[in-house]
Amino acid sequence: MKAMVLKEFTKPLVLTEVKEPTYGPREVLLKVKAAGVCGTDLKIRDGLVPTKELPLIPGHEVAGVVAAIGNEVESFREGDEVLVSFYIPCQQCRNCLCGRQTICEQLKGRIGFEFDGGFAEYVAVPEACLIPKPKELSFQQAAVIPDALGTCYHALVRRAQVKKGDCIVVLGGGGGLGLHAIQIAKGLGAVVIGVDITEDKLRLMQTYGADFVIDGEQDPFWSKTVSAYTHGLKADHVVNFITHQPSIDEGLKALRKGGNLVLVAYSKEFKFDALWGHLNEIDLLSTRAATKEEIGACLKLVTEQKVQPVLDKVIKLEELNEGLQLIKDGKLKGRLVVDIE
Ligand SMILES: [Zn+2]
Ligand SMILES: [Zn+2]
Repeated sequence: MKAMVLKEFTKPLVLTEVKEPTYGPREVLLKVKAAGVCGTDLKIRDGLVPTKELPLIPGHEVAGVVAAIGNEVESFREGDEVLVSFYIPCQQCRNCLCGRQTICEQLKGRIGFEFDGGFAEYVAVPEACLIPKPKELSFQQAAVIPDALGTCYHALVRRAQVKKGDCIVVLGGGGGLGLHAIQIAKGLGAVVIGVDITEDKLRLMQTYGADFVIDGEQDPFWSKTVSAYTHGLKADHVVNFITHQPSIDEGLKALRKGGNLVLVAYSKEFKFDALWGHLNEIDLLSTRAATKEEIGACLKLVTEQKVQPVLDKVIKLEELNEGLQLIKDGKLKGRLVVDIE
């Protein structure tokens, strides 16, 4: 089969003819139809997040058709259309037992990180990671759900516990995740302020429901604008989707006393003003991906048309390196998806 293989960190992936994956008794062989591409794939390429030893086929946002099943698979059959929850948790540790599978203490791995992923014609997936795909959803839309929607849902619902009437600032709201966060926050009944740069992204944030938008480049001290817009109440939550320290610092100032800063984008280099945090009892919330249950909740939001998956560009498997460059350059207005025939 054809696959885009990472053979050396920091180097382009290589279109390679490889063997079809083998699959265990409780796994299925999935014919990949669409695979989302995200900033994490850039980190994987550059060796900045843990993965298995190379070579690796990345691709963790997968939708496809079951092509074959292991002999102990019970709930799926050949021809079933599915999407994939890419974490493979133990389901037995204290975190799994309270529904926090993405911080499983004995995580077996993740598809596209520790196991070969979906930038290929086929991928092996445990039955327990499969979620049935409703027919009315395209494979491309489905591929956006596990991460671009799921991660936002986990951050807003589980971590920040956004409630009706809360004011939330979505920092980097015009990007592939931010536009979904805006929609989910509106669905929760929050007042949403989107911060990003360029006319296009400001307009997009409004299209997807932001109540108020700020151009962070024109207005670098935008925490004052947030304060004015909220009549001095400031924001309950600032959810960050960008790796830009001055914006995070400004976001901290936009929070009310007792508010929370949610770091969806992450970097070893991020700094947090702990004095400001102390004086205002700011909660710093880290957040990691989404559980299968949360991905299921996102799927429901999409089928009920409460959230719309935002796709910018669809590319072919062999165009993946160019696609990664578009992400690196911040050129996308929505999600990038690889279409695999
Ligand atoms: Zn991703
Ligand atoms: Zn566990």
